[in-house]
Amino acid sequence: MAKKRDYDEVSPERRAELHKRAQEVMRESRLAKEAKRRLPHLLSFLGGRHCSVCRMPFPPDTKPSVNEAFAQHVLKAHRPAS
Ligand SMILES: [Zn+2]
Repeated sequence: MAKKRDYDEVSPERRAELHKRAQEVMRESRLAKEAKRRLPHLLSFLGGRHCSVCRMPFPPDTKPSVNEAFAQHVLKAHRPAS
């Protein structure tokens, strides 16, 4: 029985708790990844770009710049619910 003691020092309750904690951490990182994927971003398409959410096009000659116009568009059209 002496050999088994090390293992038994971690009680089943403690092991279940650790297991639960590990699952929570994994779930949180998965949710964070999904949230990131859902965030509006620019998609490249046939030389132009468009919004990943609503497909609004952003031609390469957008003023002042595609990224600037897109940032404004996201703020107005896809304000994150918080
Ligand atoms: Zn959009």
